[in-house]
Amino acid sequence: MEYYKIQFVTIVSFILLFPNIQAWGEDGHAIACSIAQSRLSDTAAEAVKQLLPSYANNDLASVCSWADRVRFYLHWTAPLHFADSPDGLCNYQYNRDCIDQNGEKGRCVVGAINNYTTQLLDYGKDTQYNLTQALLFLSHFMGDVHQPLHVGFTSDKGANLINVHWYTRKQNLHHVWDQSIIETAEERFYESNRDNFVSAIQENITKTWADEVDKWEACSSDETTCPNIYASEGIKAACQWAYKDAPEGSVLEDDYFLSRLPIVNLRLAQAGVRLAATLNRIFQ
Ligand SMILES: [Zn+2]
Repeated sequence: MEYYKIQFVTIVSFILLFPNIQAWGEDGHAIACSIAQSRLSDTAAEAVKQLLPSYANNDLASVCSWADRVRFYLHWTAPLHFADSPDGLCNYQYNRDCIDQNGEKGRCVVGAINNYTTQLLDYGKDTQYNLTQALLFLSHFMGDVHQPLHVGFTSDKGANLINVHWYTRKQNLHHVWDQSIIETAEERFYESNRDNFVSAIQENITKTWADEVDKWEACSSDETTCPNIYASEGIKAACQWAYKDAPEGSVLEDDYFLSRLPIVNLRLAQAGVRLAATLNRIFQ
């Protein structure tokens, strides 16, 4: 397809012109990618190192939001950041929900994860794909699919159209889940230091969630990645936690923040663990 042929060089030069436009926020994506990179097998770590652009200095987290920066001029990528369900339906179905506005199948975050995983399986072969780009897209979209409101409802655009107050600040509910919960947690509990937050999540992975990690990583035997599962969990969390008690005009404060933070922690952990598991299966 023609949109996969865009030259990476062009994209890189554009990045310099569009700094810092975000979703899961820069922090959320970086956290997931830090966790992932720390869990790579030797073979996968070496492949990732080879594929990362040199300016990343072998730090996957530093380029984890690249896909957000390019979406504003690579318009074909915009629908690849999310998958929305019909209003009020707290489940996700690939055939129904993984479509873009023109009804083209597979043009959603789930289809994108499958697509870039398939491309990366060409690593070490003669390939038509830009595998650096594929790695950056896959790493980003694995984060997005774990942000509950990236698998939200269609008519409110994943809660982008629901206006609330985050404490005293006006914000939309999608942004609260992309950024505000994480930022407030970092400020309040982690001395505004992202690395401290990453360490806390990593400790949970090895302790609190130790018995569940195998299940998070698992796909059915013939699959390299299984984003339909991740998206199904996402819309459930969106209904149970994100949309709940947060209608238009509401003021979200400690009650909401403290009860939702564990869900954000869990989803960031799962994103990191599953990105690593997928990369470890790709680069064997
Ligand atoms: Zn995104």
